[in-house]
Amino acid sequence: MQQFFTVGPSQLHPQYELFWQESYRNQVGSISHRSQQFRDIYRFTEEQLRILLSLTPEHRVYFTPSATEIWERMLLNVVENTSFHLVNGAFSKRFYEFSGLLGKQNLCYEVPQGQGFDDVAQIEIPSSVELICTTQNETSSGIQIPTEDLILLKDRHPQSLICTDIVSSAPYAAVNFEKMDMAFFSVQKAFGLPPGLGVWIVNDASLKKAAHLKQKGILQGAHHTLESFEKNHLNWETPSTPNVMAIDVLGKMAAYMNRMGIDLIRKDTEVKFEMLKHFEASHPGVRYTTNHVAHLSRTVCVWTCEKNPKDILEKMKARQYLLAGGYGVGKAEQIRIANFPSSTVQDMEKMLQCLSEVIS
Ligand SMILES: *Cc1c(COP(=O)(O)O)cnc(C)c1O
Repeated sequence: MQQFFTVGPSQLHPQYELFWQESYRNQVGSISHRSQQFRDIYRFTEEQLRILLSLTPEHRVYFTPSATEIWERMLLNVVENTSFHLVNGAFSKRFYEFSGLLGKQNLCYEVPQGQGFDDVAQIEIPSSVELICTTQNETSSGIQIPTEDLILLKDRHPQSLICTDIVSSAPYAAVNFEKMDMAFFSVQKAFGLPPGLGVWIVNDASLKKAAHLKQKGILQGAHHTLESFEKNHLNWETPSTPNVMAIDVLGKMAAYMNRMGIDLIRKDTEVKFEMLKHFEASHPGVRYTTNHVAHLSRTVCVWTCEKNPKDILEKMKARQYLLAGGYGVGKAEQIRIANFPSSTVQDMEKMLQCLSEVIS
């Protein structure tokens, strides 16, 4: 069997088969999304995510088909004029571009690909900005924004809403939700589930802003608005038919992770991160793009390679290991390796042993 160290879709979590079977046996794929059975599933999944991610009591969870859809819904629903974007790679850049395509004034502060933000306190953000958009974990560049920097941004700009993309770092990312209005992820990355479900976490201030725009008559889209998500959520329902089985399985996965404890999941991730760092330090053929350890993503490792990365990927594939190629600017010279909960310390060890042979 092949083992996927790709960064999304990625290796399915070893528990997935069991959870999927349970869901299948309970005929969850056929139930109505207006049934009590579905309401119980929605409520359970939200409760488990609340525990796992340390959401505040006021944050709620809405479901969409993807994370990219959330970019658009968010910009339409809470931004009348201006969004500000911290751009540290291709995904944050695309989020920034969405805002322009939707006719908003999109401002940005961009760092070169492969670098992090040295001092977020120095970034000038006008007080007229309605939403500050951050990508906590940039899957294209392997760069993260440390939790403290996100807190600092909110502390310095309390008049703006702030959101963060944790698509490839949830549930590892320890976001402080007291200082975060909205966050979102999809399940095909670090949750180790098949693609097709986005999770949007939203607080009261964001809903209030959306209601204000509605009152002003600002176009918020014909498809689901925050108002319609919230109206349905009051009854544990969704505006349209969601991926019910994916919501059910996500709830079971989050409950499983809660039984393990998020601390243990984080510790495991950090052990594997240390292994990756050690590998890099002892193999001159691969290089991180920055020496700033605080900026290195813990869940997505990006290395610039001395040899042709295509060769490396092919040789690894012949040994049943799938790694990801570079993305965007780094396409021709980089490889990316997922450090998600689906792989154990031993899996990582074996894969790196193999990679060592391939690049030597
Ligand atoms: C994969 C990814 C997305 C897009 O997620 P989809 O579920 O495919 O829409 C957005 N942001 C980041 C950082 C990602 O890694």
